[in-house]
Amino acid sequence: MLTSLTLNQLVGLDDTHIMDWNGTKLHSQVLTSLARLRSDANEAGFDLRVASGFRSFDRQLAIFNGKVRGDRPIYDENGNTIEVDSLSSYDLLCSILRFSALPGASRHHWGTDIDIYDANAISSDYVVQLSMEEVCLGGVFYPLHEWLDFLIKGDQSHGFYRPYAVDNGGVAPEPWHLSFSPLASICEETISLDIIKSALANAARDKKLELYSTISEHIDEIFNRFITSSPE
Ligand SMILES: [Zn+2]
Repeated sequence: MLTSLTLNQLVGLDDTHIMDWNGTKLHSQVLTSLARLRSDANEAGFDLRVASGFRSFDRQLAIFNGKVRGDRPIYDENGNTIEVDSLSSYDLLCSILRFSALPGASRHHWGTDIDIYDANAISSDYVVQLSMEEVCLGGVFYPLHEWLDFLIKGDQSHGFYRPYAVDNGGVAPEPWHLSFSPLASICEETISLDIIKSALANAARDKKLELYSTISEHIDEIFNRFITSSPE
């Protein structure tokens, strides 16, 4: 039976629900369905691999802080690097949240969500970008995603769907990001503004969370725009 995660598991502070599967960390209850999807992909000529599965709160915190500090690039929709010097704190925050979740608010904390690619389509020295260029028509992973579209539409994707399929002004489209709906939908119902607020407040107190005052000021809007607004 699928059960909800604990509050600390939902925000990536506890990984006791996570298993290591060939070097990829995932929720144990996702593995059987993923194996079925991979098997179908194999029959269709694809080697469906997971580039990124579970991510902890601290890992997401490092990614977020790195972007605020300018240690990691921030991109626009076209893949161009954004000049952050001229941005207000609020605009900087929104630019980051288009592509990276706040620590505590990533679906990757749940272990139900994966970023995927087709290893059969690339050489061993190819560095997977997870970019729109790779997945759009003519892109190296387009055939895999075209096949997946067909499966998802026909309800044959073993519970996997794309939570970031279209641009609704929140998180930018990420066709490579799949979510295991039977379990992720339970997490979606359980996660709340208060749970995320509390995780962020603790991080701001015990660790270092950049832009915390701006985050706090706009947290309700952020929650609606970037956290709960992902379409089915
Ligand atoms: Zn992802």
